[in-house]
Amino acid sequence: MYPNCNTNPCNRRKFIYNLSCNAGLAALAINGIASIWGCGNSEHKREEKAGNEKGQNKLGIALVGLGGYSSGELAPSLKETEHCYLAGIVTGSPEKAEKWKKQYDIPDKNIYNYQNFDTIKDNADIDIVYVVLPNSMHAEYTIRAAKAGKHVICEKPMAITPEDCERMIAACKEAGKMLSIGYRLHFDPYHIEMMRLGQKKVYGPIKKIKADNGMDGTSGWRLDKKLAGGGPLMDLGVYNIQGARYTTGLEPIAVTAREGPKTNNALFKDIEETIFWEMEFPQGITAECMCSYSKGTNLLRAEAEKGWFELSPTYAYRGLKGKTSKGEMNFKGVNQQARQMDDFAMAVKDKRPTPVPGEMGLQDVKIIHAIYKAMETGERVDV
Ligand code: NAD
Repeated sequence: MYPNCNTNPCNRRKFIYNLSCNAGLAALAINGIASIWGCGNSEHKREEKAGNEKGQNKLGIALVGLGGYSSGELAPSLKETEHCYLAGIVTGSPEKAEKWKKQYDIPDKNIYNYQNFDTIKDNADIDIVYVVLPNSMHAEYTIRAAKAGKHVICEKPMAITPEDCERMIAACKEAGKMLSIGYRLHFDPYHIEMMRLGQKKVYGPIKKIKADNGMDGTSGWRLDKKLAGGGPLMDLGVYNIQGARYTTGLEPIAVTAREGPKTNNALFKDIEETIFWEMEFPQGITAECMCSYSKGTNLLRAEAEKGWFELSPTYAYRGLKGKTSKGEMNFKGVNQQARQMDDFAMAVKDKRPTPVPGEMGLQDVKIIHAIYKAMETGERVDV
């Protein structure tokens, strides 16, 4: 399954979104002033604030795992959303719980740890659980959230094996809950333009894609294969794969791959440091890709019969730049995460499919596994 630029709700909703986003900010500002003037104890005020958000028909999101991405991007973005809000947190750290409770006005009853997480089923404030844990933990927490009767957003990569992805999809189906993957770039105007230019063949049929994604250095659980499931391919490679899939609108047929040289054997003893791979698509299209934990690089480029188009930087949260053989792309920057979470909340409310479902995450994990197999065997592997 690949996203279709015609059905991406962002196009249609861009104007409405901007208007309503401002309205949402205004409402938050008013609530903020009210809480400064208000009296009563702080726990009461927190519950009152949560009640206000619910009163505005916003869905409550609980973030599971309060690391870099939750604290740096998701929680701040949830102050800019119109259809959902930060209602709860799940953390193993009492210190973090205390800090977040004050910073985001979260009532005690909406704060969980990993042991009592399943009791979230009794909490009507929480509609959506957002899993932002190390990759190998995604499956367990998505399945537990579904069993607790919650809709789920799960970060990328969906899981570390296709089997885990399938279990996650089955658990959500069985619970009658929706599942989406944190593919924020589907909600960014520059990537929506790549989908349009490629899928509509604006520059004629695509011949070749080039997708590079690397950063200079990594640390922590990302170096531990048990938690990460792999190296930069698992972490960053989903973006290359996604970019090639949605720019062509096609699915890869087969892959070849080779591991790049290691500059630090001790650090990268379990995982690849750099990987190069090629994906073969129908109609003779090829995608040349690379990912690295030791070289900063950021490109998505399509070469077509009558021209080219590219983004660089492309996978970043902000500051994207785009060019085509005819000139520069020029879109206003957006809050990708706010759009992504609002779109899922709207999908839940409207009972319509999400454009970034679990099945899309599963396909990416299947492709990742084919690439690792090709790297290990040196052979061309069918997807
Ligand atoms: P992080 O290391 O900053 O945070 C991980 C969190 O998980 C921490 O709060 C940590 O305490 C908690 N945790 C619970 N059990 C743990 C364990 N056994 N080992 C290690 N940590 C444990 O990581 P992050 O950068 O926030 O990434 C979390 C997830 O979000 C990953 O799946 C990552 O791929 C994804 N992510 C996505 C984007 C994006 O742009 N969509 C960006 C960054 C991260």
